[in-house]
Amino acid sequence: MEARAARDASPLADASIGVSANAETPPSRPGTVGSSRGTGVALAAAALLLSGTGWAGVMDKAASAVIGPPAISVDREEVVPGSWVVVRVTGVKGPGILRALGRDIRMFAADSGLRALVPVPLGLTSGKQVIAVRVGGLTLKTAFRIAGAPAKPPQMLRDLTLSAKGAAALKSGNAVLGRAFRKTGREALWSFPVHTPLTGRLSSGFGVMRSYGGTAGWPHRGHDLAAPKGTPVAAATGGVVVFSGWLEMYGNAVVIDHGQTVHTAYFHMDSRRVATGDRVEAGRVIGTVGETGFAKGPHLHFGTYMGPVAVDPGEMFTRGLP
Ligand SMILES: [Zn+2]
Repeated sequence: MEARAARDASPLADASIGVSANAETPPSRPGTVGSSRGTGVALAAAALLLSGTGWAGVMDKAASAVIGPPAISVDREEVVPGSWVVVRVTGVKGPGILRALGRDIRMFAADSGLRALVPVPLGLTSGKQVIAVRVGGLTLKTAFRIAGAPAKPPQMLRDLTLSAKGAAALKSGNAVLGRAFRKTGREALWSFPVHTPLTGRLSSGFGVMRSYGGTAGWPHRGHDLAAPKGTPVAAATGGVVVFSGWLEMYGNAVVIDHGQTVHTAYFHMDSRRVATGDRVEAGRVIGTVGETGFAKGPHLHFGTYMGPVAVDPGEMFTRGLP
């Protein structure tokens, strides 16, 4: 990043979403999930669902069942933090729950079986990670590796200092956004490619380690796209607006659910053109670029999420969603 990017870079505000997400995602303990079948496993699965911190609360009560030779696969065996793994299970039907990286993640019907997206939060260290899926009285296991991400140059934002009041506003804003990220539909509403919400200069990228006014720093969990105030902001792909409102640190903010745990977030806008509950198509104008909230210079902070975990928007554009 060039030095002047700091002037219009967006705040640490968005960063702490990921920080709190990281706090909920301790390294997985492979020994905690056994591989067996029968009612004992079903009871154990129920206990796991109740104690989980992820998508357990939205699990269906309908029974799942084995309908063929069960198999589990991952689309990538190694990913960097900020990326994700697509997990597929075939030979089963009905609800399934996946456990990885210390979280329960809901599986959805897709690709003639069940599918889940497993995001890897920034800040996790490299190593082997076990994925366990409970479905139809079975526990299926596979694994992937977290690779070390190449270091990015740090970015100093001396113009932005977080006060105690700002920190409190950040916390309450994150709670609101966290609730929005838990609202998700069963159907995948996205399409490929996922579009950039506007054409602007990338003034700060994903994963850049930032520090503010000489104090603590956080990795940046989105793309800052610098553009003149009033530039239209378009929905990156289709979905349902699950939040449209004002948050002190994020300014005018919109969160869109694209189904199956995938969300995009748009912060610091000058105006909002959609309301919570609106169905939007890809490219629909949802607001305009501004400088609202904890921000310097007009820009859009664009974030992409799987559950509460921020993933790299750049990879969303190129690799896309399954
Ligand atoms: Zn930003």
